[in-house]
Amino acid sequence: SKTLRLVLGDQLSLTLPILESAPENAVIALCEVDEEGRYVPHHPQKIAMMLAAMRHFATTLRQRGFQVHYSSLDDTDNAQQLIPEAERVAQLHGCDEIQVTLPGEWRLAKAIESRRISRVGPRWRVLEDTRFFCSRQRFAQWMEGRKRPRMEDFYRMMRRHTGMLMEEDAPVGGQWNFDHDNRLPIDDAPPPPSAPRHRQDALTREVLALVATHFADHFGTLAGFNWPVTRRQALADLRHFITHALPCFGHYQDAISDKSPYLFHSRLSAALNIGLLLPDEVCKAAEDAWRRGAAPLNAVEGFIRQILGWREYVRGIYWHHMPDYKRDNRLAAERGLPACYWNGDTDLRCLKRAIEMTHDNAYAHHIQRLMVTGNFALLCDVRPAALCDWYLAVYADACEWVELPNTLGMVLHADGGYLGSKPYCASGKYIDRMSDHCTQCRYDPRQSVGDDACPFNALYWRFLERHADPLADNPRMRVIYGTLNKMSTEKRRALREQAETFLDTLTWTLPYGQGQHA
Ligand code: FAD
Ligand code: SF4
Repeated sequence: SKTLRLVLGDQLSLTLPILESAPENAVIALCEVDEEGRYVPHHPQKIAMMLAAMRHFATTLRQRGFQVHYSSLDDTDNAQQLIPEAERVAQLHGCDEIQVTLPGEWRLAKAIESRRISRVGPRWRVLEDTRFFCSRQRFAQWMEGRKRPRMEDFYRMMRRHTGMLMEEDAPVGGQWNFDHDNRLPIDDAPPPPSAPRHRQDALTREVLALVATHFADHFGTLAGFNWPVTRRQALADLRHFITHALPCFGHYQDAISDKSPYLFHSRLSAALNIGLLLPDEVCKAAEDAWRRGAAPLNAVEGFIRQILGWREYVRGIYWHHMPDYKRDNRLAAERGLPACYWNGDTDLRCLKRAIEMTHDNAYAHHIQRLMVTGNFALLCDVRPAALCDWYLAVYADACEWVELPNTLGMVLHADGGYLGSKPYCASGKYIDRMSDHCTQCRYDPRQSVGDDACPFNALYWRFLERHADPLADNPRMRVIYGTLNKMSTEKRRALREQAETFLDTLTWTLPYGQGQHA
């Protein structure tokens, strides 16, 4: 019996059991296939980052003495679909078994499982992905008997479990959460650091040229490509973040800038998701910065909570509830995506800048995703599938296990409040408080009706009115429903008309694959 070890494009980590346990002469396969680049129109920077990282990883594996079979996108005999290609490679090398680490997407995990039980072709064996703090099994145990799981409870359990930011059994600094020190608006922020530029070697340049021709029709530009494609480059990004951005991360975590796409965010999600960095080393580097006195606790705790808390939590929810989770649409939202998400053609300054930055960098930070593009789609009743396809396509870090709960659950509240206890809907006033967009916008965030009124305002009240059942009963929404209920009938009608008139001005597209994709 001979085994082929298949390493997927987002599993580029030498610590995975599939590689750690591999004998010296093991055959390892990495397969670029057209299908994975196209099932949604991935941003060219995302595709280029992954392919360049895969090719560099193949070099690392060869240097360690492994026999590597690398299927390139433009190989003439490439089957261009992952399972058939892996089986073809297995046959080529006389392997009767294929080992693979659990894919990050239910779709692919299911396809491999179906193949495994069909007992046709080589035997498939799926190994756990050990890169996470919380295994799927541990998460399932934690979920037992919980009707309404909450991230905060999960996070505390994980802090205790890992000992991260803990002294004995108590959180360092005497609190689990320092958010009240965070959330400063953009106005007070010092100039953010600029990201280090990565050198592009011949291999990376070759991939950039390949992607430019193969995926020329996809949304996004390759021009500013600066993603890490080796572990070394990813470690340089980590060091840069810890030294230059982490100290301000907490304070400006929720701020939005018209100019700066990254502010004090780490830009580490893509490297984490494809395996160039491990969450454990990233969190430890942040904790170490606090222990050395190089970063304040509010920043370090806030940062670690995103990775040890949110990242692990959404992954747990994903695997626990798929495939049903993906079908949820509890607010019965039925519109396609506004066309401006693909062409940037909008005069809402905040939305335009978030889409432009996405187009240019395959990146927007969390608050842009949540409170600008996400909030707008929520207020416009965009169907979960339409919005999820967009988020999965346009960000360098997009993998379904993390994208779906964030989009369907956190942004669209389409899971009925399972992930987030209240919708993150907000009016223009919130965006005005946290950003410097509004002074450069043709709309006025203080007005709700009339030609100059910020569209977010009327849309916000329309949303609350439409979903009073079930949202009015939510204790966290009581104050805002109190305000709505005190409004005169005329004012409510004027707001409703303002919102409907605005919605009529938008052009709608269907989800990718159902036509009209620009
Ligand atoms: P930082 O702000 O520096 O945060 C540090 C790290 O924490 C990130 O690198 C990331 O690994 C983790 N993190 C932060 N917030 C979250 C979160 N809500 N869920 C999970 N991990 C988190 N993140 C992805 O990695 N892939 C996605 O496909 C993705 N889709 C998203 C879609 C929507 C609609 C929203 C609202 C959020 C999404 N996120 C996704 C979460 C978050 O926005 C990104 O992880 C973050 O913006 C990446 O930038 P950063 O590395 O600079 O993050
Ligand atoms: Fe966005 Fe409204 Fe501000 Fe314009 S006025 S930038 S649309 S929040």
